[in-house]
Amino acid sequence: MIPAAKGADAASLGALEGLVAAVVVLAPLERPLSYLVPANLAAQARPGMRVRVPLGRRQALGVVLQVAPGAARELRPMLAVLDAEPLLNPDLLAFLQRCAAYYHHPLGEVLRTALPAGLAGLEAGVGILAERYYRATPGDAMPRGARQRELLTWLRARGEVPLSGITAAFPAPYALLKRLAEQGLLSVREGEKRRDPFFAQPVAEDVRPDPTPDQQRALAALLGQVAARHFSPFLLHGVTGSGKTEVYLRAIAAVLEAGRQALVLVPEIALTPQLVGRFRARFQHSPHGVAVLHSGLSDGERYDAWRAIARGEAQIVIGARSAVFAPLPDPGIIVVDEEHEGSYKQGEGLRYHARDLALLRGQMAGALVVLGSATPSLTSFYRTRSAGMGYLPLAARVLDRPLPEVRLVDLSGRRLDGALAPELRDALGENLARREQSVLLLNRRGFAPYLLCRECGATFRCPNCEITLTYYQANRRLRCHYCDFAQRPPEQCPGCGGRQIEPEGTGTERLEEELATAFPAARIARMDRDTTSRKGAHQHLVGAMEQGEIDILVGTQMVAKGHDFPGVTLVGVIGADAGLNFPDFRAAERTFALLTQVAGRAGRGAQPGRVFIQTYAPTHHAVACAARHDYLAFYEEELAFRRELGYPPFGHLVNLVLSGAQPLRVEQGAAAVAEELRRAESAVEILGPAPCPLFRLRGKTRVQILLKAAARAPLHQLLGLVQTVRRKLPRTLNLAVDVDPLDML
Ligand code: ADP
Ligand code: ZN
Repeated sequence: MIPAAKGADAASLGALEGLVAAVVVLAPLERPLSYLVPANLAAQARPGMRVRVPLGRRQALGVVLQVAPGAARELRPMLAVLDAEPLLNPDLLAFLQRCAAYYHHPLGEVLRTALPAGLAGLEAGVGILAERYYRATPGDAMPRGARQRELLTWLRARGEVPLSGITAAFPAPYALLKRLAEQGLLSVREGEKRRDPFFAQPVAEDVRPDPTPDQQRALAALLGQVAARHFSPFLLHGVTGSGKTEVYLRAIAAVLEAGRQALVLVPEIALTPQLVGRFRARFQHSPHGVAVLHSGLSDGERYDAWRAIARGEAQIVIGARSAVFAPLPDPGIIVVDEEHEGSYKQGEGLRYHARDLALLRGQMAGALVVLGSATPSLTSFYRTRSAGMGYLPLAARVLDRPLPEVRLVDLSGRRLDGALAPELRDALGENLARREQSVLLLNRRGFAPYLLCRECGATFRCPNCEITLTYYQANRRLRCHYCDFAQRPPEQCPGCGGRQIEPEGTGTERLEEELATAFPAARIARMDRDTTSRKGAHQHLVGAMEQGEIDILVGTQMVAKGHDFPGVTLVGVIGADAGLNFPDFRAAERTFALLTQVAGRAGRGAQPGRVFIQTYAPTHHAVACAARHDYLAFYEEELAFRRELGYPPFGHLVNLVLSGAQPLRVEQGAAAVAEELRRAESAVEILGPAPCPLFRLRGKTRVQILLKAAARAPLHQLLGLVQTVRRKLPRTLNLAVDVDPLDML
């Protein structure tokens, strides 16, 4: 039963029978509400459309779930239908309902997360624009003028092209178009404009290498499933440089051929310009074929892309995690590239994992799902043994290129003059002399991780978050990496009045300086969140690396992300163990992945690569296995450890995080929640409450309760109780439910 929206008005009281719509209001409500569909909207209101409805004394945005005749007495009427055609198809609505149930999150909030910004609010003013579309008429007649011929040939290669697409390639084409149309060589139609920023960008040349034997085997397995139309999940485990992208491209081509669409998830669009470029190059003949859901799109561009996807015009959709909600009518393949990446997990609100949802969506749609990585997550790797996921290894690099040789530089007991060990510095010098490129990873931004008073030992902490402030030398600032608090560094220690305040440790900014001193002639660039915050800055760096305009690229984990720079022959890692000390059972998994990924940037071209890893823990299995490229040994050891402790993939976790401004209130609230859950006496182990590792964040105190169970069913049952408990908490406390948490900071 769907409860009625309260407070009927006089106009609707008279109607006993009528059309009733179940509407999911985009608000934290647990159930859909019923509204009367007034006669003038009866023809328009259909499932999947956005509507404006009254909610209490205000108006709200909702999405119609279903429409049926019913008892309309006391129902309030909906006010307006906002879309001309459904934005969400029935399959997608069903998928979103499953998401809400799995993550124990209100359906209205799930919809708000799924809809692109600009469509999820009433204030959104995005409208539909009109545009002209041109198409060459069949035949091969040629006009006289050279420019006319050029334009016509271009159009013939592309099918239908909107005016904006033509003007991006041919400045001021209007007279040419008019003349071509007069000769009957073109047809013109008026259609909806699709604002697409990628039209203006040049498309790279398509390279179609012959598949390697590994690629052929993987493709045979994938293509064998295309016709079946049932759920077939695969893990494409390809070492770095083994050509995973080519496998995606060919599998996708086969799915398009079968009349279905493709969804491609990438960790972060802005950081993967090369991958997006290869997709556009391969599928450029259909100008609207590839839709890129970029976080930099304007609301209008996003709205247009969404509608084009919903109509099935965009055959390939590429986007970051939220693209898992894109409204493809019939996705036949879902690719999750770099499936091990943490950015697939949303850290707040609906805390979903896009890779897990890709599997769920693939299951509901009867689609191929391809998870690709050189360092698969333990969870996905284990699924190939336990849960019927196919395993497709690409064990060798393309063209028989060797994996790089890795050398561990043991730092224990050594004192370095700076951040670079002499071995690595010498190797950099050699590389410069040979005019080959180098990449250095240091997973720490800024000049120094903290400032220290030499006299009393004081450091400087963020007033909102219990962590030290990072020192930036270039603009003389102390900054918090969590809340963006910033201040000028004090001249004098506020504690003891001392004047000897000095930066301690090394971040990327300082490493860049050290390199500039050591190699004055080298062209050095830095890639981290600070240097790439401006739009296009990251792409610019990637382009400069490709062109060989940079000798040494320094950066945080960003430099490890999937780049294909054939000129890089040396990779250095400074401080490989920093991540191992994290209070998190996945610390080793992350470190192994990061080291393997960054090492994989070396030797992808004709010259072989070398890697130097500076470490204090050379025998730790995450470091030692990465150095040997021995992922199987790493997985076996790590799986044994997880099994012993009942951690994923052998057990399931839910993290409950309570937060609020007043520490005492938060602790009391958490104690009450834990007590209530313990009283339920289920098979779930309840750990805590305990302070979160980040105990204070953005001015809020945070306490967590960890739920752990061998099976999912009792966990979900207990979470039902959490919803009841939540209602008893004071309003000043926030209780977040994190199903399958990725980190517990
Ligand atoms: P991965 O993602 O597995 O690290 P990529 O997909 O980036 O690798 O491919 C690495 C490089 O190898 C790319 O430049 C790609 O064009 C090239 N490549 C892919 N497949 C082949 C092949 N069969 N033969 C030759 N080169 C290939
Ligand atoms: Zn802070």
